[in-house]
Amino acid sequence: MQVVCLDLEGVLIPEIWIAFAERTGIDAFRRTTRDEPDYDRLMRYRLDLLRRHGLKLADIQDVIGGMAPMEGAKDFLDDLRARYQVIILSDTFYEFADPLMRQLGRPTLFCHRLEVDADGFVADYRLRQPDQKRRAVEALKGLNFQVIAAGDSYNDTAMLAAADAGFLIHPPPAIAAQFPQFPALSSYAELSGAIDAAAARLRPNAAEAPASR
Ligand SMILES: [Mg+2]
Repeated sequence: MQVVCLDLEGVLIPEIWIAFAERTGIDAFRRTTRDEPDYDRLMRYRLDLLRRHGLKLADIQDVIGGMAPMEGAKDFLDDLRARYQVIILSDTFYEFADPLMRQLGRPTLFCHRLEVDADGFVADYRLRQPDQKRRAVEALKGLNFQVIAAGDSYNDTAMLAAADAGFLIHPPPAIAAQFPQFPALSSYAELSGAIDAAAARLRPNAAEAPASR
């Protein structure tokens, strides 16, 4: 049995914080892990910025609700889900992703969550567990699934390495150069073909038991 695990942002939907910066006109939201490698500091900075601009969760969801998945993403995902079990592994938050997940037909999503205070402001964030993408792949393998994974960035590479087959989909050139072990693909059609080829190449798990009779 095989499961396909996909990253979300940069693969099926635009980077939420970048799109959020564009739609609100607040450039300070463009700060990413490339500018501030300490994720906790980056999130504290973002939450502080939201509060200073008086942006509550409902405002953020309004902005995100105006965004759309990447062109072709829904068709690609629908086609993939017709043939495979698909799980989205993302480091975003359920509360942010929700408007976009609705547009994608609500595929299974494993991510993190936000804490909202009585006034509706985002008060804090809760990582469900650290390094959750890699740990999800390892857990699925522990359930005797073969895992084919695809992502676009640094935070996906541990997941790709843990998977039985891993692909980069339109990654930044520096990431493609740094991780040549993961084929870098440039379209959904290429990714779909690569997933099919990997699924055909992976043999049935030796541990898969025949049906008892
Ligand atoms: Mg990504």
